[in-house]
Amino acid sequence: PVVTRFAPSPTGFLHIGGARTALFNWLYARGRGGRFLLRIEDTDRARSTPEATAAILQGLAWLGLDHDGEIVSQFENAPRHAAVAQELLAAGKAYKCFATQDEITAFREAARAAGQSTLYRSPWRDADPGTHPDAPYVIRIKAPQTGETVIRDRVQGDVTIRNDQLDDMVLLRSDGTPVYMLAVVVDDHDMGVTHVIRGDDHLNNAARQMMIYEAMGWEVPVWAHIPLIHGPDGKKLSKRHGALGAQEYQVMGYPAAGMRNYLARLGWSHGDDEFFTDAQARAWFDLDGIGKSPARFDLKKLENLSGQHIALADDAALQREITEYLQAAGQEALTEAQEKMLARAMYCVKERAKTLPELLDKAHFSLTSRPIEPDEKAARALDSVSRGILRELTPQLQTDSWSREHLEDLLNNFAESKGTKFGKLAGPLRAALAGRAVTPSVFDMMLVLGQDETLARLTDASK
Ligand code: GLU
Repeated sequence: PVVTRFAPSPTGFLHIGGARTALFNWLYARGRGGRFLLRIEDTDRARSTPEATAAILQGLAWLGLDHDGEIVSQFENAPRHAAVAQELLAAGKAYKCFATQDEITAFREAARAAGQSTLYRSPWRDADPGTHPDAPYVIRIKAPQTGETVIRDRVQGDVTIRNDQLDDMVLLRSDGTPVYMLAVVVDDHDMGVTHVIRGDDHLNNAARQMMIYEAMGWEVPVWAHIPLIHGPDGKKLSKRHGALGAQEYQVMGYPAAGMRNYLARLGWSHGDDEFFTDAQARAWFDLDGIGKSPARFDLKKLENLSGQHIALADDAALQREITEYLQAAGQEALTEAQEKMLARAMYCVKERAKTLPELLDKAHFSLTSRPIEPDEKAARALDSVSRGILRELTPQLQTDSWSREHLEDLLNNFAESKGTKFGKLAGPLRAALAGRAVTPSVFDMMLVLGQDETLARLTDASK
């Protein structure tokens, strides 16, 4: 069974690059009945904070990337990591190195002066254990010194590293703490991770991590190192390209489904498909579809996909997402009455809204209440002539039937009787019903508001 994991370092918010890594791992596992695990790489005690962990969890929760099992704290596994270093030591695959920092520096300087590789070669690798002093030491792995290591990467292809370029890396520091590289391998092994999908900034680490797998006789996971995300200008994504935090996109009002769709397309493709549902993404996602060159961030595409997801969303789910959006954006929650009205209006406001605030803006007529304050444009549409027309129209709307068909007939006939077209009436009606010049269709507004509220707003506006 497939086991993937997301292993963020809790040193800041969830970056969109991290969110995409998490999504790829989640999709890969979820599409294969596998497990998606979460490990917080909190070994760097100085830089790891609980706030960062909380922010990462929040970002994942927003994106709906649920994990299986308990969250693993890498730091808490330190004793296990140290035990593996001891195991390698006992098996003769690692050794105690007593070299001091000064000795290592001197080695490098001499090597540089002689024009030789500065890769540190410890004299302790082959030293007789009987000669070990009673002094601080680190535990180093015995790296292979000949041949090559091949990283069989599902995205990058075979990446070959000459083993004489690998050093005997430290596994355990002199204070007994494990190094990061060891922690990752031991945790991945213990968690049963079968596929490591992560940023290609970790590709070099893979070669060193493979030494540990091999020394322990553990099965190496499938590697998939994905290219980083670039800005629209092709340069590494940075602040000047816009928001970097995944959750900033929630605050801007992108729906999670749109963001997932967009992030999935960022570096992965399935034919020419741009829009897809979650179910399709789970069914289609695979490692072969991941591109080798960096994906470019494109806000237009995100907007476009978000709009499609909003239009297709289930109304009740959309309403819940709006509640969460308002909270995330630090805006006032809707009242119960507003929620009811929004539910009625949803069918006509969710089309062509690229973001949730855009949807709310379209729904303004249903969320606002009398007296309607017309904005500048709407106020101009309500001149004395228009008000006179509304005064004449209002009594005719006291009809028994409040159906779309009936209202269409009624307004068209009324317009005809005035020697004009319905279109000419629309401006004043929008202004009266919504206080705005741009609104959903007049009929939709009338149907959503209902007869009483429509009549009341028209009466107010025609005074
Ligand atoms: N903690 C690493 C990071 O946040 C990820 C390590 C890994 O995926 O192996 O970049």
